[in-house]
Amino acid sequence: MTDKQIVIDAIINGEKFKAEKQAPRENPARPDEVVGYAPVNTREDTVRAIDAAHDAFPSWAESDMPDRIKRMRTAIQHIKDRTPEIAELLSREHGKPLYDSKGEIGVSLAWMEFACDNVAEVLENEVQKHEGGKTIIAKDAIGVVSAISPWNYPISLSTIKIAPALLAGNTMVLKPSPLAPLAVSVVTEIIADAFPPGVLNLVHGEADVGVELTSNPKVAKIAFTGGTETAKHIMKAAADTIKHMTLELGGNDAAIVLKDFDVNDEKAMRRLVISNFLTAGQICMIAKRVYVDRSIYEQFVEKYIEAANKWIRVGDPFGKDTTIGSVNNKKQMEFVQSLVDDAKSKGAKVVKLGKILDQDLYEKGYFMQPTVVLGAGYDDPIVVEEQFGPTVPILPFDDDQHAIDLANDSIFGLTSSVWGEEEHAVKIAKHIQAGTTMINTAAVQGLDVRFPFGGVKQSGMGREYGKEGILAYTDTHVINIPDELDLPYIPE
Ligand code: NAD
Repeated sequence: MTDKQIVIDAIINGEKFKAEKQAPRENPARPDEVVGYAPVNTREDTVRAIDAAHDAFPSWAESDMPDRIKRMRTAIQHIKDRTPEIAELLSREHGKPLYDSKGEIGVSLAWMEFACDNVAEVLENEVQKHEGGKTIIAKDAIGVVSAISPWNYPISLSTIKIAPALLAGNTMVLKPSPLAPLAVSVVTEIIADAFPPGVLNLVHGEADVGVELTSNPKVAKIAFTGGTETAKHIMKAAADTIKHMTLELGGNDAAIVLKDFDVNDEKAMRRLVISNFLTAGQICMIAKRVYVDRSIYEQFVEKYIEAANKWIRVGDPFGKDTTIGSVNNKKQMEFVQSLVDDAKSKGAKVVKLGKILDQDLYEKGYFMQPTVVLGAGYDDPIVVEEQFGPTVPILPFDDDQHAIDLANDSIFGLTSSVWGEEEHAVKIAKHIQAGTTMINTAAVQGLDVRFPFGGVKQSGMGREYGKEGILAYTDTHVINIPDELDLPYIPE
C-alpha cells in the first residue's frame, strides 16, 4: 500500500466496521495503480447495518426538523471544505477528468442545499377544514431505506437519495458500486458523522449484499439507480414484502435535430457534442442516438465532426487540456467496442473524433477514442441498446413524425432533446415519451435539481430531485376528524 492509497471501511451504527475481505480499486487510466481498498461486506454485515438503521428509526423519525437541517448543513460545509481532495480521489478511481468530478460534487451540493431549503415546506402538514369536519394530511417517514447506487456518478446518485431520505426522518443503508466505491464513501462518512449513530450506514459489496438490502423485511423502501436488468432482480427480491421503490434506470436518449437547427451555430454544435461525450458517454441521460432531418444531414455531419474534433481531447484525467478521460472499466470498454465493431461489420462508417493527448497512457489505460457511427440501421444494436460509452450513431429522418416515431421506438424513456427553432422544438418535445425533454441542450447541461427527474417506460419509476424527490421518502398519512361521526345509512 502506498501513501496515496485509501482504505475504506463500512459504517454501521456510527462505527467503522472492518470487513474480513477488502477489494482493490484500480485506476482505470493507469490499471497497474491501486487507488484504494473497499470492504467486501457479507450478507451478515448487511443485516447488521439494516438492524442498526431499523433501531435508529423511531427516534430519528421523531426528531425536530430544524435539527435535521442543521446537521445536513454541517455535512454540506464539510464536503465543500474537502472538495479538492474528494474530486481528486473520484477522478483517480473513476477515470473522468478533474473538472467533471468537481462538477459532480457541485451538483450534489446544490441538491443537498435545495433539499435543506425546501424540506420543511414540502413536509408541512396540510390542514383542511371542510363541510364534513377537519382533515390533516401528514407526510410520515417511511422507515429504513436501502439505497443502491451505480459507478458513473457515485456521489451525486448517492446524495440524491441520502439528503431527502434523512431530512424526511428515514434511516438508510447505502451500497455504492464496487467500480467507484472510494470517493462516495468519504462523502458518506462525512454525512454519517453529522447524524446520530445508525441514521446513515454504509456497506460495500456485490450482488449478494444488494439482494439482502432489497429483500430484508426490515427495509421499507428501495432507492435504486442502475441498470434495467438489475432492477428486474430487485423488483422480484422486494416482492415478498411489497417495498416502496424509486427506480432510476437505463436510457437510450434521442436527440432530434430539426431542419431549422443552425449547423453554423458553433456553440450549439459544441453543446450537442458535449451532450454525447461528457464523462466518456457514461451518463444515463447522455444523448445516445442523434436523428437529423435528412434535408440538413450532410452539412450537419460535416459541422458536427468539425466541432467534435475541436472539443474532444482524450487524456490523463488530471491533464489541464483533457476533456475526456478513460472509460471506467474494461468490461464497459469491451462492450462499447463490440457495438461499434458490429455496426462496422454491417457496413456503417465509423469516424474517429478529436485527439489523443498522450498515446502512451492511452494504450495502457481503458481509453477509447470517441467515434461517430454513420449509416447504421435503425434497428442495429448500436442504435437500439444503451451503449454507455464514447460512441454515438447519427441517423437521418424524413419528417417530424418520423423523428418522433424513431425517438419513441425504444423500451427506454429517460431524457431526450430537440434542437432547432424553439417553438418548433417544443411542439415536437410534447410528443416524445420521456421524463425530461430539453430544448437546444441535453444531458447534465440541461439538468436542474429544482425540478423532478426520472424515467418513463423501462427507464424507471418515481422521481428524484425537485419537491417530488423529497416527497418520495414519505408516506401520506391522513388524519380525519369528521363532524358527523355516525353514518346515517348504517342501521342502528
Ligand atoms: P448496475 O445495475 O450494474 O449496478 C448498480 C448497483 O446495483 C451497483 O451498486 C451494483 O453492485 C448493484 N447490484 C448489482 N446486482 C444487484 C442485485 N441483484 N440486487 C441489488 N443490487 C445489485 O448498474 P451500473 O453498471 O453500476 O450503472 C450503469 C447503469 O445505470 C446504466 O444502465 C445507466 O443508464 C444507469 N443509470 C441510471 C441513472 C438514472 O438516473 N436513471 C443514473 C445513472 C446510471
